[in-house]
Amino acid sequence: MIRKISILLTVVLIAGCIASCLMLVSCNKPLSSENGLFNAETGSPAIGKIDTDGSKPDSYYTSSKQGVTIGKYLETPYGTYYCSFEGYLYYSEKGNTKYIRLCNKPDCAHNSEDCNSYIHSSPIGYYDDKIYYKIWNSIYCLDMDGNNHMMVKRLYEGYDSNFGYFHNGYYYYIITKSGIPGAIGNDDNNFYRVKVDDDSKPEIVLTNDAILHLSFFTIAEDNIYIIESILNNYLFKTLYSYSTVSKSWSKLTDAWGGPGTYYINDDTGYCYINNKGFYEIDIDTKQMKQMKALKFENEGICSALYYPDYIYLIHYTNEPFDYLNQILYIYDWDYNLIDSVEFDKVYGTGGFVGDVDGYIIFTSNFDVKPDYYIDKSEIGTGNLMFHKIED
Ligand SMILES: [Zn+2]
Repeated sequence: MIRKISILLTVVLIAGCIASCLMLVSCNKPLSSENGLFNAETGSPAIGKIDTDGSKPDSYYTSSKQGVTIGKYLETPYGTYYCSFEGYLYYSEKGNTKYIRLCNKPDCAHNSEDCNSYIHSSPIGYYDDKIYYKIWNSIYCLDMDGNNHMMVKRLYEGYDSNFGYFHNGYYYYIITKSGIPGAIGNDDNNFYRVKVDDDSKPEIVLTNDAILHLSFFTIAEDNIYIIESILNNYLFKTLYSYSTVSKSWSKLTDAWGGPGTYYINDDTGYCYINNKGFYEIDIDTKQMKQMKALKFENEGICSALYYPDYIYLIHYTNEPFDYLNQILYIYDWDYNLIDSVEFDKVYGTGGFVGDVDGYIIFTSNFDVKPDYYIDKSEIGTGNLMFHKIED
């Protein structure tokens, strides 16, 4: 019963990892670069820097964001990008507008590996006017309009895989056998990072056996937070912090939530524990406190997503777990329930994709493109609904 707690994230992680594994054969093929107007054949506008609100610093776009799809949805000064589980890179001018495959090759049907938008279901990152992505053990970049795919560097030799994501001009990662963190057989207990925009080599940030049982990691300010699975315990994880400045390693708690249920900033950690409620931990004192008790009659499993405007709790109600019936609960940061709405449009695996400006983006299927949104101005009006992103 309790085992299902980790299923949600595992499913999403594995979907991404399997996609990565399948592309080994073709990972070194030269990528084409074409010039010309962006998506001229679909009549879409050329990409230009979009002035969202004029107040967002570069760090806002380069930081890895929360999300169920982990590193596949990217807000940039040029618009939003989404890498589907099928491996195609999509672009939307605003996030709630039509998503198109990022390719302007003449006569391309945009449905094969030769398409410029095909990047092998990679995590994506924005840095200094380029999109970065990863294929197997190598980092690549491309221009914002989808042109000029280039290999930047190879991380290591051999056939091992890795798990990680882009953050502030670096790719942070662990080396794994299958791409799945914490899997039996992983034997590298180092945590690495590599700069994406120069020819420097990867560096070891820290070494610890907790890396072998890693469930997930997050980076905030100068700290790296390692979440370690606990054997035979599917409800709780162990949370550690590592300061890249003082080099100190510290255990914060043995009662942390898993991937997809937490957020950490410079002095506070926030998490949701299934059928127990919302918790906060003071990073300095390690004091953890229940902020709101919460228990669903139909336990299901939940993911908790923390964004500047709201905290989103998504309750997957089906037993056994699937994505088909989800209820989105919207809380303010004092844990008051503001609104809720059911998302029942999923086929396969789908759901929450991201929060961008005034919109919450969902997809009926992670394999393809985001196709629903919520207008945040409707939250709390009694008229909350999912709007279709029209093609
Ligand atoms: Zn194409």
